[in-house]
Amino acid sequence: MEKLSFLTEDQVRVVRERFGSPVFVYDQNTLERRAREVLHFPNAFGLTARYAMKALPTAAIIKVLTDTGLHIDASSGFEAERALRAGVPPEKIQITAQQIPADFKELVEKGVLYNSCSLHQLQHYGEHFPGSKVTVRINPGLGSGHSNRTNVGGPSSSFGIWHEHLPQLYEIAARYHLTVTGMHTHIGSGSDPDVWVNVVKLSLGIAAKMPDVRTLSLGGGYKVARMNYEKDADLQVIGKKVVPEFEAFAREHGRKLHLEVEPGTYLAANCGAVVATIIDMVNTGAEGYKFLKVDSGMTEVLRPSLYGAQHPIVVVPQQAEPRGVEYYLVAGHCCESGDVLTPEPGNPEGLKTRMLTHARIGDALVIEGAGAYCSGMASKHYNSFPEGAEVLLTTTGELKLIRKRQSLDQVIENEIIA
Ligand SMILES: *Cc1c(COP(=O)(O)O)cnc(C)c1O
Repeated sequence: MEKLSFLTEDQVRVVRERFGSPVFVYDQNTLERRAREVLHFPNAFGLTARYAMKALPTAAIIKVLTDTGLHIDASSGFEAERALRAGVPPEKIQITAQQIPADFKELVEKGVLYNSCSLHQLQHYGEHFPGSKVTVRINPGLGSGHSNRTNVGGPSSSFGIWHEHLPQLYEIAARYHLTVTGMHTHIGSGSDPDVWVNVVKLSLGIAAKMPDVRTLSLGGGYKVARMNYEKDADLQVIGKKVVPEFEAFAREHGRKLHLEVEPGTYLAANCGAVVATIIDMVNTGAEGYKFLKVDSGMTEVLRPSLYGAQHPIVVVPQQAEPRGVEYYLVAGHCCESGDVLTPEPGNPEGLKTRMLTHARIGDALVIEGAGAYCSGMASKHYNSFPEGAEVLLTTTGELKLIRKRQSLDQVIENEIIA
């Protein structure tokens, strides 16, 4: 059976009492510990580590992570703007985006870094900033994501400039007198150090053909164990295997490449939990299931419905008392059959029961591993449910509200009756 990770049962009860339900709780200790691990990523010739803020873009979290020395990877102009408003200096923000921001020029003039992710984006950069230094995202032709929906490299991924299109890339660079000083790859989740070494070899092979490149970003995609049978990527092991590759490149090409990494999941995933409430229980007969229904679901945690992703689930009785166990399915509160928190692993169409503490209506249900791609990615406002609140459990053990619960007024504030 799964256990609470950073909260105690009593804290769960206090959280629900003080902040209502559903509510996200994030653990500052875990965030800072993870940040230190990332900042100690082994490297041959220097390191810049960025937090991929799309994982969890709340200002207080950005502040906690950037205070440790992390820079920011932003996935849109809006994210960059959010980071600026959270107090991050522009030169510590790099945009790697699918869509050129409307205020592209203003952002770059402010000092925000812009990583060109397609030939079109590079051309756009050249038109606005001829004669400057640029970095480019390359699709090295290989992906390692855990599902089709998270694969971000290889021929079936649209992210980055295809590795065989360097001639076109340099044609554009020459036209606008751009110097390509940085190469970036981000090809998906993994924990196997040998896969990382292969990716690095492949990337260095491409960087060898780019004579002015001095920085190589390996992106994010470091796998995190949410479930107890999963395995965390070991940054020390991966990094130590990568160092000799950078050293060999330096000997062969006379260039000491600065390393960049930009994890999102690794920093945020296990720092967060959703505290929800069991609002109903439904039994579908001898051939069916026992369902727990909660006042959360895809409105806070969309990943199970999207990928069949697994999150640990813990029932916390309203009052501390001994209870037995039971097999349940857990469903969310949306009128949508896909709103389940217990899909079959890797298959959002399937269902798989979980052994949980015997539950009663009114008990709390905690969804763990909900720091990354939950609050930031949820199915906002479906069934008109307002966004839940967010709370930070600080290093001194205080529970601090960092995002208020939305009101219905806020959900509909931009609507106009014709
Ligand atoms: C999403 C993203 C990341 C972070 O990926 P994780 O799997 O969360 O570590 C890093 N870099 C870029 C460009 C991204 O789009």
